[in-house]
Amino acid sequence: MSDKLSSQKIQYVTILGATGTIGMQTLDVISQHAERFAVFALTANNNVKGLFALCEKYNPNYAVMLHESSAVTLATQLKNIGSTTIVLHGEAALCEMSAHHQVDIVMAAIVGAAGLHPAMAAAKAGKRILLANKETLVMAGNLFMQAVIDGGAVLLPIDSEHNAIFQAMPQHKSSSLAGMGVKRVLLTASGGPFRNSSIDELKTVTRAQALNHPNWVMGPKITIDSATLMNKGLEVIEAYWLFNARPEQIEVVIHPQSVIHSMVEYIDGSVLAQLGNPDMRTPIAYGLGYPERLSSGVGSLDLLTIARLDFSAPDRIRFPCLRIAYDALNAGGTAPAILNAANEIAVEAFLAEKIGFMDIPNVIERVLAEAKVEHVESIEQLVAVDKMARQSAGLRIQALC
Ligand code: NAD
Ligand code: MG
Repeated sequence: MSDKLSSQKIQYVTILGATGTIGMQTLDVISQHAERFAVFALTANNNVKGLFALCEKYNPNYAVMLHESSAVTLATQLKNIGSTTIVLHGEAALCEMSAHHQVDIVMAAIVGAAGLHPAMAAAKAGKRILLANKETLVMAGNLFMQAVIDGGAVLLPIDSEHNAIFQAMPQHKSSSLAGMGVKRVLLTASGGPFRNSSIDELKTVTRAQALNHPNWVMGPKITIDSATLMNKGLEVIEAYWLFNARPEQIEVVIHPQSVIHSMVEYIDGSVLAQLGNPDMRTPIAYGLGYPERLSSGVGSLDLLTIARLDFSAPDRIRFPCLRIAYDALNAGGTAPAILNAANEIAVEAFLAEKIGFMDIPNVIERVLAEAKVEHVESIEQLVAVDKMARQSAGLRIQALC
């Protein structure tokens, strides 16, 4: 083993969204395996302070900020400490860092539709992609999966549920679930902070209450998505593309302890589950090391303390986002991209305290009802659809304010 490790080539990693929760946890795992991984590029939106601290600590070859003014500030600060990190800016630079010939692994951990182009660039360049940015699959599932095949990329799901399913799937691959003896996949959901709240209580939920997730520490957008159950809806669409599952083969199960991360049911009645503490460093380490297992810093699962595991059905009346996501998946074409864009705008408005919690599904449903759903032809078309859906959601939000 030590011979194997010593002869192993260092793998260069680009982390898109390095200052985020997933980005930072990826750096945590990488720093536990400094003999295997080196940080090639770190990127962030506009958090100069955060990216500066990461550059100081990890000394990447490149750092990328979305906006030029942030990049100029970062470059000055890094120069002042004698850093050799090269600072770039803009979406094209994000894509360049994904596709760079020196890069082996791309952690796609930008939040939202902004992650689409850099993830596509990694797919086309045939990288090992650790996909946390589920919005890429929701918006452009068919184009992205095709780009992965055409580019010869290796796609490893980081979302804990999909990582669990990936782990529980058979080693022999087939083009369909039935071909692998799989009947269905069961996505677990914690149910979020309002699992037991009434509709009346949901109407008056505050930003602070919604940001207080019981089991996971995550960025603000996915935390709100978890509270509305849109996160699970997006994950249903993600599972559809990743595992070539039909919508009726994907079931959501509320499991408040977040210990079982998801399950695969086989035609013989076997159900394989992956369990662990709710800590994203497990799927991240799995993606980095695959097919080898790497230590992640996550502690042992203490089943005796947990003592019980509960399950229930999701309530699609109190949490309409889950139903709306299934509807969008069944509608197909550009409907999931419209859903995603409207959701991003509605969540942003909720976080800005412009609309109420239950306005989120209302806005999304209205945008979808009025949009024309088309076949997906190209990324350019999806970018235009995304823009239109954002405008439409913005108008609906204005009407509510
Ligand atoms: P976060 O908000 O903590 O971090 C987002 C990162 O993306 C930051 O580094 C930010 O600078 C960057 N970013 C934001 N907007 C950008 C833009 N327009 N252009 C370039 N960069 C931009 O989010 P997170 O919780 O780390 O989640 C990241 C992704 O991973 C999301 O798609 C989320 O759904 C997915 N995910 C997260 C978790 C989790 O536990 N946090 C679990 C599963 C999946
Ligand atoms: Mg998840």
